[in-house]
Amino acid sequence: MKKTVRDIEIKGKKALVRCDFNVPMQDGKITDDIRITSALPTIKYLIEGGAKVILMSHMGRPKGEAKMEFTLKPVADRLSELLGQDVTFISAAEVVNQEVADAAAALEEGQVMLLENVRFRKEETKNEEGFSKELAQLGDIFVNDAFGTAHRAHCSTAGVADYLPAVSGFLIEKEVQFLGGAVENPERPFVAIMGGAKVGDKIPVIENLINKVDTLIIGGGMSYTFFKAMGLEIGTSILDEPSLELAKELMVKAKEAGVDMILPVDVVCAKEFANDSETITCDIDAIPADMMGLDMGPKSVAAVKKVLAEAKTVVWNGPMGVFEMSSFAGGTIGVAEALAESEAVTIIGGGDSAAAVEQFGFADKMTHISTGGGASLEFLEGKVLPGIAVLEDK
Ligand code: ADP
Ligand code: MG
Repeated sequence: MKKTVRDIEIKGKKALVRCDFNVPMQDGKITDDIRITSALPTIKYLIEGGAKVILMSHMGRPKGEAKMEFTLKPVADRLSELLGQDVTFISAAEVVNQEVADAAAALEEGQVMLLENVRFRKEETKNEEGFSKELAQLGDIFVNDAFGTAHRAHCSTAGVADYLPAVSGFLIEKEVQFLGGAVENPERPFVAIMGGAKVGDKIPVIENLINKVDTLIIGGGMSYTFFKAMGLEIGTSILDEPSLELAKELMVKAKEAGVDMILPVDVVCAKEFANDSETITCDIDAIPADMMGLDMGPKSVAAVKKVLAEAKTVVWNGPMGVFEMSSFAGGTIGVAEALAESEAVTIIGGGDSAAAVEQFGFADKMTHISTGGGASLEFLEGKVLPGIAVLEDK
């Protein structure tokens, strides 16, 4: 277990906090502030505990230059509103300079400042010692609460921990508890549902989970590579050709591990990759040569629901079809519905799966929706994330 802000003395301490304020922006305005509101519990805990709070984050890809379209000023303004108190913001091209250091040193208990976009410095993504030291000199303790970048060893996510005692905030604590807990110590039956476009992107996750789950459900675009590997005709469905052999190996591995591997039995097909294309629903051994499978069919949804009804832990990564188009959203909605109804611990990892669950209104019915796309995948692969590895153990 990793230490959190609850496990250390915070009163009077300058807490250097890495947040994920990489919010979507349009014309200088924040279009979705969920990442800011999600960070509030940790920030408020620090304020109330009498810490002096120094926040840092990246936004976008300024590639090591002070490009003002990536300034964190709008985030500072939004944070001030949400916290109902001033958030000091100095837009320094160097991120840390004398003025910033003085402002940090002058903070009083409960006051908050936000540093400029850490990726204005080219050293940030290279985890170079010099910039890590500059950042670390501002604080007494390091709090990492940016799960979305925890799989990257950067100055602000990992490097600073060489110089400061490091603990997690509440967001990372929750990710470790659920993603880690599910994979390492699941209540059984443990079911993983894998979908999305390509097998290739998810192979390491499948390989890791295959040794841990009782049942593996494969759906979405990746299922066609498995069908092809089984010798079925898949028409013009998405095929991840380079992963064909691997798909075969994974089927063998599943069998050896005693894992039930479940694939769709029927699919919704269309001629065009378009919402208004005419559709047919057919069994998987009857996909017409000039059509592509874009969703799993109702028989498959029923079969999946049956498995999920028995499950005690479910990890879901990757949609079951092209859910962005209403004609091909049925499989994804069906699975989301089954998870919402289930008593199991339900964990959603992956950017598009999380978006689907939100979009269809099931978000509050899930045990945990991971906030980090790439980071949650690496976690499910069983990798050690640098931004978590640097945190002190309890
Ligand atoms: P996640 O972000 O949850 O890890 P992925 O990025 O792997 O998921 O996959 C999501 C994408 O897969 C979606 O944009 C969806 O439209 C696409 N997809 C799902 N099923 C199919 C299919 N049958 N054919 C083509 N694309 C598909
Ligand atoms: Mg995705």
